[in-house]
Amino acid sequence: MSRILHRTIGIGLPTAVAGEGIYITDREGRSYIDGSGGAAVSCLGHNHREVLEAMKAQMGRISYAHTSFFTTDVAERLAEQLVELAPKGLDYVYLVSGGSEAVEAALKMARQYFVEIGQPQRRHIIARRQSYHGNTIGALATGGNAWRRAQFKPILPETHHVSPCYAYRDMQVGETPEAYAERLAVELEAKIVELGVDKVMAFVAEPVVGATLGAVGPVADYFKRVRQVCDKYGILLILDEVMCGMGRTGTIFALQQEGIVPELVTIAKGLGGGFQPIGAVLLSEKIYRAFADGSGLFQHGHTYIGHPIAAAAASKVVEILQRPETMSNVAKMGERLQAGLDAALGQSPYVGDIRGRGLFRGVELVVDKETKQPFDPSRKLHSRIKRESMQRGLMCYPMGGTIDGINGDHVLLAPPYIIQPEQIDLIVERLAAAINAAV
Ligand code: PLP
Repeated sequence: MSRILHRTIGIGLPTAVAGEGIYITDREGRSYIDGSGGAAVSCLGHNHREVLEAMKAQMGRISYAHTSFFTTDVAERLAEQLVELAPKGLDYVYLVSGGSEAVEAALKMARQYFVEIGQPQRRHIIARRQSYHGNTIGALATGGNAWRRAQFKPILPETHHVSPCYAYRDMQVGETPEAYAERLAVELEAKIVELGVDKVMAFVAEPVVGATLGAVGPVADYFKRVRQVCDKYGILLILDEVMCGMGRTGTIFALQQEGIVPELVTIAKGLGGGFQPIGAVLLSEKIYRAFADGSGLFQHGHTYIGHPIAAAAASKVVEILQRPETMSNVAKMGERLQAGLDAALGQSPYVGDIRGRGLFRGVELVVDKETKQPFDPSRKLHSRIKRESMQRGLMCYPMGGTIDGINGDHVLLAPPYIIQPEQIDLIVERLAAAINAAV
């Protein structure tokens, strides 16, 4: 009997005993292709020798030094690497231990920024429906996933939500992508006006929506229009790249495909590649300056921020991501994955949309392709797909439609960037078989 309170109780999880490359092996000797990188975490696969060596070397130097007493070379190096890779304008890094922590820190930075510059009346956060920004109270309040929020709603701080950019379901017939982006910008502006033009502190969005919608990217111009609206009202833009960042969509930061620079960016998951728990917030000079010239501190912190071994792992991961062969494989294998999914599932009457960027792909399931009607949530189609794919030796990341009934069940794929063509084909084959068996 397990003494762990697992996410789902009583389902009898296999015990993972080894990981190598894109495979995880369980105690019974079954092996699984890690087609989702866990939850878009294991970007370099498992047991990567160079990352393990970097961690070991750091353990031999120093494993922990509290950040109120010391900085470390390895944390400083990681921050420099990230700033060098980030679009110009993101000049400083705050290291944390995971995605929710990164989002909490970014929200508090936004709030403290406005206190520092003498606009303490700015307190509202606007985010989007069908989004996920983490499970801690502030991050959960920010996210717009109705199912995840439902039972906690009475204890969540107030957050306001507008529509996500979800062309498959929301762009109207005859509407151009530009007109759709404009409609969403108008909606955002109306929400700002409703709340008070000088009362909003931040707009939060995932550049490519991961867990809630399944690899849904924006239409062209959407983020440019969002940036303009935020600028018009002096609102900070926070982009959450916890899932879609660190090379997942084909560029190190997903926002690099949108031609804008936010004031704050959150990253995690792929940053540590699963070798260590680590996340970060990248922040603009404007925010750093307000703190430095104001109170002289960021009034926030956790015990393990800037952990040297986590920083060592992340620093090596980032170094490997910078190698041209890493990102070119993401592009090539991403295209192969999309083409394979189109060929294997495009004709299925139950597959409404196959989408994504790089090695971040989503398959949305529908009862009827014409009406795009989602499956009844009581069928728990996503759970059945997960079971069927695990039986076939494939880890994928299926999620149910949200209870606001807008999106359907979907499957997210996010394999490691080291994946090879024949392994992509195996993922497609196993996923198609699992979906066909489950529907
Ligand atoms: N933000 C996004 C976009 C995520 O996808 C997630 C996790 O899936 C989080 C934040 C929370 O990250 P963590 O689970 O590391 O706390």
